[in-house]
Amino acid sequence: MIEERIVSPQKQIEDENTNSAPVNLRPQSLADFVGQRTVCENLKVFIEAAKSRGEALDHVLLFGPPGLGKTTLASIVAKELGVGFRATSAPMISKSGDLAAILTNLERNDVLFIDEIHRLNPAIEEVLYSAMDLIIGEGPSARSVRIDLQPFTLVGATTRSGMLSTPLRERFGIPLRLDFYSPEELMKIVMRGARLLEMPLSDVGALEIAKRSRGTPRVAGRLLRRVRDFGAVCGALEVDNKIADNALRRLDVDDYGLDAFDRRYLNCIVQNYGGGPVGADTLAAALSEERDTIEEVIEPFLLKLGFLQRTPRGRVISDLGCKYLGVPQMRKDKPSAQLDLLDN
Ligand code: ADP
Repeated sequence: MIEERIVSPQKQIEDENTNSAPVNLRPQSLADFVGQRTVCENLKVFIEAAKSRGEALDHVLLFGPPGLGKTTLASIVAKELGVGFRATSAPMISKSGDLAAILTNLERNDVLFIDEIHRLNPAIEEVLYSAMDLIIGEGPSARSVRIDLQPFTLVGATTRSGMLSTPLRERFGIPLRLDFYSPEELMKIVMRGARLLEMPLSDVGALEIAKRSRGTPRVAGRLLRRVRDFGAVCGALEVDNKIADNALRRLDVDDYGLDAFDRRYLNCIVQNYGGGPVGADTLAAALSEERDTIEEVIEPFLLKLGFLQRTPRGRVISDLGCKYLGVPQMRKDKPSAQLDLLDN
């Protein structure tokens, strides 16, 4: 069910290429890339320095929730460096040989992008360490892998930096955290998308879509395409905030960008667990969802909105969350008192 949510920050097949809209909304340069100012400014400096020395850029780790532009930034880094770009993801590398094949095909100073890098299996991580240190052909791993390697830049992306092993994390000289975008930044992204799609969209129309995009460019792009369809069907000369609002309501995206699943999640904490605290595993079971999906897809934006709090004892609905659901504020002392009794 989560896969089909229009507000899911995870990639869906129609995002990149659909028959109705085969337009690529991905920015191609740092100048085109809206938001994440500190990240972009730092990258710019490091890219210039590496270029002026003719060396490979230091390894870069991009972390943050899905859909915020990690893949996009990685490909921009390669373009700005003027080098080749190769993209893969950890689940696609099942054997050391798979990684070795990718590594040997890299040319001098190329960028290798590995998505979901926290999912690499430990044996493959070992090979990657040697490659990142450029000592393949020496050391203990040389027995199994002996390859000639060009200097390269690894750009790793993860939604779970806490799940990265320490030796891997320490090999990234440039760790960069991506955060949710502001409505104003998303508005610029939506306006740019509308221009590329040749869709007449007013400023207020763009802001309406931006405000409901969960701080996430991928969601903004998807909502924009759907609103465009509504606009075309109702024959509007220009899509304004009223048309956008109407379309988004019909798609069940509310003023905060939340949908039925978010409400089910919040209601579950309130109705089944007295407002919390409740553990992620318990919630995942109650909602018949994977724990990873709950943690990576559902919770980050609810935390950002302040509707949810994470405590050592589990998830707790906040006063703001109760207000959103229209239920009375929860007494936070009750569940913990019960737990204390159980602990004793
Ligand atoms: P991630 O790798 O973090 O999941 P992506 O790089 O695939 O995210 O970005 C998702 C989509 O959002 C891309 O198709 C791209 O068009 C758009 N996007 C991401 N960041 C930006 C940005 N800063 N400006 C404009 N569009 C963006």
